[in-house]
Amino acid sequence: MRVAILGCTGSIGSQALDVCRQHTDKVQVVALTAHSNTHQLVANAREFGATRVVVTDEAHCNDPVLSELPDGCALFFGSDALADLPHLEDIDIVLVAVVGAVGLEASYATLKAGKRLALANKEPLVAAGDLLMPLAAPGQLIPVDSEHSAIYQCSMVGEPREVHLIWLTCSGGPFFGCSHDELARVGKQDALAHPNWNMGAKISIDSATLMNKGLERIEAMHLFDADLDQIQIVIQRESKIHSMVEYADGSVMAHMGTSDMRIPIQFAFSYPERWSTPAPRIDYRELGKLTFDAPDVEAFPSLRLADFAGRVGGTMPCVLNAANEVAVEAFLQEACSFNDIPRVVETCMEAHDRMEVSSLEQLHEVDAWARSRAAQVLASLA
Ligand code: NDP
Ligand code: MG
Repeated sequence: MRVAILGCTGSIGSQALDVCRQHTDKVQVVALTAHSNTHQLVANAREFGATRVVVTDEAHCNDPVLSELPDGCALFFGSDALADLPHLEDIDIVLVAVVGAVGLEASYATLKAGKRLALANKEPLVAAGDLLMPLAAPGQLIPVDSEHSAIYQCSMVGEPREVHLIWLTCSGGPFFGCSHDELARVGKQDALAHPNWNMGAKISIDSATLMNKGLERIEAMHLFDADLDQIQIVIQRESKIHSMVEYADGSVMAHMGTSDMRIPIQFAFSYPERWSTPAPRIDYRELGKLTFDAPDVEAFPSLRLADFAGRVGGTMPCVLNAANEVAVEAFLQEACSFNDIPRVVETCMEAHDRMEVSSLEQLHEVDAWARSRAAQVLASLA
């Protein structure tokens, strides 16, 4: 199996490389991309013998370390080169593990090229599920997001028409139990400290606002062709149940296991097989208890905003996502407060006239509009 890993320097990308390291007999790393971390990119290319690498941030095209790429490894720059990779003949699987809507073209190109899309990058599916899903043949798009990998696997035992509900589990994030007023005072470091998962900065903030769960509900709606009402969020503080599918007869299939992203990443490579893993295992005799709660929509308005965007559909989820990306970045730069994040998103959504999704070009325009609008809203808050 020949894989390309887009975003190999990130949290998902480096865990994917660990999966490849464990299974050198089955997986060959052909192509790698990074945005800014050229040192790590070169180290990865040397270790895995990649034959093609892409640096998407052109500000890094003269980094001296790039001269240390292995012999015969072709080097390309810019985001267009990212979307060209899936068309290479010697690639079977493309893992899209970049962060944000920037992964849209590459995801689209992977499906168009008939390659398997192992999709960690949830933002493109939220913004452009209407364009991506019709391109995906059965078994071609395997989700890597742990909840969606779990739902995918729990769905393998029944027919879509037999599904009554999807229970999308949520750890609750670092601020579980906090009121909206308490959240007004939280800082960047508190928000980055997720209790159960070690992830990139953007998804860590999304997990703290619970926007991550709102985005994941829209992601599930597209992946499993379900109504939003069929996808219920349940807080599962221990992150041991990764989601559940409840069937018409009341039977519930739950996907359980350790909180280790290497497992869903590997499943997206190995499907329909299962391979061994070095991830730690759980002794269920020692697990003690599993707890379940309802999410607090008052304290975490991002859930309500994502619900609205998902129901309205069309271009609204693209606006939700783009405005959120800008607001999260501002929060990471300490340019706005935690509760400003949903405020910015809501203001942008209110100003948007929803359209049916018609093309990638249209979504680019909507995305750019939402980003500039979000920047204006942030400037007015300052
Ligand atoms: P990270 O921030 O850790 O990594 C992001 C990767 O994308 C890096 O390789 C980075 O390159 C690259 N990148 C950053 N900006 C750009 C850009 N503008 N164009 C191209 N590449 C870029 O993120 P995560 O690994 O945490 O998340 C990746 C995706 O997977 C996200 O969409 C996230 O929602 C999703 N996901 C992540 C999970 C996790 O556990 N981390 C779980 C489920 C889903 P560089 O480092 O070189 O700058
Ligand atoms: Mg997830």
